[in-house]
Amino acid sequence: MHDILIKNGTVIDGTGQLGFKSDVAVEKGRIVEIAPAIPKERAKEVIDAKGKFVSPGFIDIQNHSDSYWTLFDQPEQSSLLSQGITTIIVGNCGASLAPLASQEAIKAVQKWHDLSGVNLNWATFAELAAALGENKLGVNVGSLVGHATLRRGILGDQVRAVTADEIRIMEDLLRKSLEAGAFGFSLGLIYAHEVDSSLEELTALSKTLKAGGGYLSVHLRSEGSHILEALDEAIELSREASVPLKISHLKIRGKKNWHLFDRMASKLEIAYHEGLNLAFDVYPYDTSWSVLYTYLPKWAYEGGRAAILRRINSASERRKILDYLRAAEENFSNIIIAHAEHNPSFVGKSIAQIAANQEVSNEEAVLNILSACKTQVIIFDHNLSDEHVELLAFSPLSLIATDGAGYSKEDLNNLVHPRCFGTMPRFLKMVREKKAISFELAVKKLTSEPAKLLGIRGRGTLAKNNFADIVVFDPLKVSDRATYEHPFIQAVGIDHVLVNGQSAVRGGNMSGSFGSVLTK
Ligand SMILES: [Zn+2]
Repeated sequence: MHDILIKNGTVIDGTGQLGFKSDVAVEKGRIVEIAPAIPKERAKEVIDAKGKFVSPGFIDIQNHSDSYWTLFDQPEQSSLLSQGITTIIVGNCGASLAPLASQEAIKAVQKWHDLSGVNLNWATFAELAAALGENKLGVNVGSLVGHATLRRGILGDQVRAVTADEIRIMEDLLRKSLEAGAFGFSLGLIYAHEVDSSLEELTALSKTLKAGGGYLSVHLRSEGSHILEALDEAIELSREASVPLKISHLKIRGKKNWHLFDRMASKLEIAYHEGLNLAFDVYPYDTSWSVLYTYLPKWAYEGGRAAILRRINSASERRKILDYLRAAEENFSNIIIAHAEHNPSFVGKSIAQIAANQEVSNEEAVLNILSACKTQVIIFDHNLSDEHVELLAFSPLSLIATDGAGYSKEDLNNLVHPRCFGTMPRFLKMVREKKAISFELAVKKLTSEPAKLLGIRGRGTLAKNNFADIVVFDPLKVSDRATYEHPFIQAVGIDHVLVNGQSAVRGGNMSGSFGSVLTK
């Protein structure tokens, strides 16, 4: 007896091959048959997928549900499940929740989440996997090892180059974590605790990664005026260590830097054609969700939170920072406060509005906000080109990922990026409207391509004996609805989602948590 039978749908199996009419039968968590006209009497539950596409569950390879802590306080991850995501990969942008060489290491995530009152009952990567497994996870979860997590475990709040001995300790931590099932290693080179990491350190760790197996996930050192150099650095690093490279949330921030797009794209193409195993992920939105302090000059945020605050409050350094910000010519009416620790009244306002309220310049307002929130400020910045977003999303080298977190309830004091609710449906809607690529290729980007980079077995395609992570969606209706003003709104057109063979979304409604912790 089959547990679930999906009848009359068009199977888009994730390989890129043309969709075909077929039924799909599921038993004990696995796909047991893909064939036309399987009798419905043989199943306990029948899903009618007439007019719908049946595809593998989507894999969100660039996810932050760990660093935003929602894996613990909202483990159902409804905002992800409801867009068809069945597997997420966390530990991105240099920050993972393990291994913790000391309790200081966890501070790698505090730029996204306030850690006060947080209880940690793990230290190693294997212990983290066990701790995650105790939550009722809505989606399958795998993790990378974050560079800042390694560094802060050893250096604490110190920001400096590491010694040869310290590199060896970091290599050891990384090696053990890879053995315990980490899928790769991530860098967040733009952030305070990684900016001064040396090439020697990064190369040594990348070689450890090569030995242990896995890919390098890189948040580039610059996504603005220095993006070309930042890209060269990432390409060099992965070439030197011969590890697969995945660039995180590729984009060019700021209109004045958009002219670099063609050169950036050709660098990627050349590296790919020279044989580098290369991919990048992109979210289909023209607005970034960023940490405000990264808008300061690099020297001003070296040393982390305490150092930033000290500089903001020193008259001479404050003046220098203001000079830099004025010269940077940001469009402050495009920057909206999404999260302001302990100061919810800032949320939803633009920096220009706050400046007007405070009767100060926009640049002064930036520093005042950072100071009031002890640097913990997250913003929306409408600074990306629609045309670039489209070109990147449809590129043969791209994967589509949220770069967001899963939410199950509305938070009245915070705005989250609408991509946490709408990424995959929005991309599928783009495919329907722009017709730049077929649905078959689009689904491949969301399923088998990330699965291949991850080296996940039994997921990413619809095939007999594979895990039954399955999405039934309506190609004519699928669409996002979340906006920047009202982000906590579920997408439409994702009708059914199966996770490990069980109905997690039924008729568009949440119906249970069946995720598991994945190790490589
Ligand atoms: Zn990042």
